[in-house]
Amino acid sequence: MRSLFLKCTECNIYTQKQICKNCNSKTINPLPPKYSPEDKYGKYRRKALQQK
Ligand SMILES: [Zn+2]
Repeated sequence: MRSLFLKCTECNIYTQKQICKNCNSKTINPLPPKYSPEDKYGKYRRKALQQK
């Protein structure tokens, strides 16, 4: 099971809270869904096709 990690861009630290406890900034998900392995391979495949 993968834990949910969020990142505070102000402090550059990882936390599991949606609000950074250090600076009260909203944290972001450093691994957005669009960077899933499936997309990555799809991108490579598309790139390979374009290079033909
Ligand atoms: Zn912070």
